[in-house]
Amino acid sequence: MKLWLTEKQTENLSMSCRIRETLYVGQSEYQKVVVADSFEFGRMLVLDDVFQTSIFDEFVYHEMIAHVPLFTHPAPKKVLVIGGGDGGAVREVVRHAAVESVEMVEIDGMVVEASKKYLPEISCTMRDGHPKLNLMIGDGIAHMNAVENHYDVILVDCSDPIGPGEGLFSREFYQDVFKALKPDGLFVQQTESPFYHQPLIRRIYRDISDLFPIAKMYLANIPLYPGGVHSFTMGSKQVDPETCALPAKMPFDTRYYNLALHRSCFSLPNFASDLLK
Ligand code: SAM
Repeated sequence: MKLWLTEKQTENLSMSCRIRETLYVGQSEYQKVVVADSFEFGRMLVLDDVFQTSIFDEFVYHEMIAHVPLFTHPAPKKVLVIGGGDGGAVREVVRHAAVESVEMVEIDGMVVEASKKYLPEISCTMRDGHPKLNLMIGDGIAHMNAVENHYDVILVDCSDPIGPGEGLFSREFYQDVFKALKPDGLFVQQTESPFYHQPLIRRIYRDISDLFPIAKMYLANIPLYPGGVHSFTMGSKQVDPETCALPAKMPFDTRYYNLALHRSCFSLPNFASDLLK
């Protein structure tokens, strides 16, 4: 039998993946959680029918959301990950020797449990536990309200701006992020497709650049996501990711990120840089 999983990417565009096997289906308090094994992408996490991550291309997203900010900051000791329930972001964060602690606040325990069981390559750090990692199940928005001058780096590894992730794209949330960061702190958020989410990207960039002295967008190629090109937006209080000091050589192996790409990923095609004007 041929099974297909379909994500409606826009009103007029869908992407379908042929599925070998459905491994997990659950309905949490927040969303429908599915793990399926697809022919093209391998095992995939799908939340409310939106493709979140896959074994095939997860390295791009997780390396780019973690290593760009962590190599930008001169001493990223205290790190917070909001969302990231598949565990891929914290897997990359703990590889940095400077990191002393990483807190992760994911709203949906079902995403964490399904990822631990069916996506061990991605969830390994979260599943096996790590001395640097403190995993909390809770709302990242509420967590931010209570913190001040505390983190060096914050990664907002969230789902789309609908459902539980909606408030993670608000100006009020960015104000809380600013407050929670130390004076030289910085944050990065996944900010969707520069082709298909232009009004959202414009609004996010405006809000972040109103608050942070340095606001920059960078891109990465992620075939699972709409348009195959994905954006990340950084707000930084002091350090500029394009001129910051970088290590002379990479201290560990990566599959997508490298030190030349650290600079070049901020060089945007004209249609994308026009979104930031
Ligand atoms: N790489 C993915 C993408 O861009 O499609 C996102 C990965 S991760 C699975 C996103 C996570 O954010 C989900 O597990 C979701 O439960 C979590 N999330 C959504 N809203 C949240 C909130 N308010 N607080 C904490 N986590 C949240």
